[in-house]
Amino acid sequence: MKEYDVKCIRCGARFPKDDIVYTCRNCVSAGPRGEPVSGGLLDILYDYSKIDRERIVKATGEGVWRYRALLPFDDEIKPISINEGNTPLYRCDRLAKSIGIEELWVKHEGLNPSGSFKDRGMTVGVTKGVELGVKGVACASTGNTSASLAIFAAKARLPCYVLLPKGKVALGKVAQAIMHGAKVFSLKGNFDDALRVVRVLCEEESIYLLNSVNPYRLEGQKTIAFEIAEKLGWAVPDRVILPVGNAGNISAIFKGFSELMTLGITTTIPRMTGIQAAGAKPIVNAFKENKEEITPEDNPETIASAIRIGNPVNAAKALHAMRSSGGGAESVTDEEITEAQLLLARQEGIGVEPASAASIAGLKKLLEMGEIERDERIVCVTTGHLLKDPERVIQICEPPIEVEADVDVLRKMVRSPFEAMKCM
Ligand SMILES: *Cc1c(COP(=O)(O)O)cnc(C)c1O
Ligand SMILES: [Zn+2]
Repeated sequence: MKEYDVKCIRCGARFPKDDIVYTCRNCVSAGPRGEPVSGGLLDILYDYSKIDRERIVKATGEGVWRYRALLPFDDEIKPISINEGNTPLYRCDRLAKSIGIEELWVKHEGLNPSGSFKDRGMTVGVTKGVELGVKGVACASTGNTSASLAIFAAKARLPCYVLLPKGKVALGKVAQAIMHGAKVFSLKGNFDDALRVVRVLCEEESIYLLNSVNPYRLEGQKTIAFEIAEKLGWAVPDRVILPVGNAGNISAIFKGFSELMTLGITTTIPRMTGIQAAGAKPIVNAFKENKEEITPEDNPETIASAIRIGNPVNAAKALHAMRSSGGGAESVTDEEITEAQLLLARQEGIGVEPASAASIAGLKKLLEMGEIERDERIVCVTTGHLLKDPERVIQICEPPIEVEADVDVLRKMVRSPFEAMKCM
């Protein structure tokens, strides 16, 4: 039996492993908006003295389950898996040069099976749900969580309920959720409303909640840190930069690096740097104002729909990750995000959805502000694939040029100096 504890990060209360619990029932207090659901966040804690570090550094298999020595399951467990993880870590010299730094890597999580890092969390979360014997799964989503959950629920043959904010979800993500057989609701409200509603629904109807408030999700996502360190020869970059929405991923990656250090595999933790959109930046505000609690934003707005979140549920974990690693938080405008999306696409061949480009936009901005040293070894995490949000591309790029099926016409165009399609 793998030893681990489900523990409240605020009051230290522990919960049995077979208890279906998302936030602490011991220290329930009013949330930022007076909602009574806000007990402390939970974390999965292992007895690290019983974990053999050789099982991590000499691991076999690929992707998330390669690191099963640090996942909350017995070795015999049969994962619900679609080969998630094992994404490329690209060295991006051309982009590094153009923004004026020495060493830049991009971890392209858009190359997960469903096109976002959410698969890492879902393989662990849904496998845990099956182990717990749940009868159905649900989530609120800005899109990618629902796309991923729909797939894993299909694999696990579980009913899947998805709440999407009406008119606010990128087309590719909706397509995935309905194609893979989830029951999809278009909710009249924003993401924060959807999460508030689904949390109550899951408690009352005994459906398993798979938003990132579920601590098992983050156990899967922490493997991003393991893969980065392993690909760098079990070394740690100076800084990791990523977009922040509900703030689960930055918390998970920080945890992954912390565990590697606890096991004596690495010796440092990268500066965890979170980027939000200018129209949805409660964590950036709290970080800069040195506050422990965020002030929720009622009407978050940005073209980066995956991070259009005003009341991030994992704020406490994320603020701890950024502060204790000496990292930071910054916001970027939609224009800066679009510019970074184009840079990634055209200089490095990396196609990402808008939220993902916030990492590069944030890097550029922090460099200009003098907050990042030019010789730092930096990893940016690009969280979702370009094809998730084709509508945005159509909005910003010149449409294809219509021509007759006539070689003479085309010849003339091809012989004039080459110009890529214009954007914005
Ligand atoms: C979910 C998501 C994010 C935000 O991640 P959090 O863990 O909620 O902070 C960022 N980018 C993409 C593409 C996402 O799908
Ligand atoms: Zn508690």
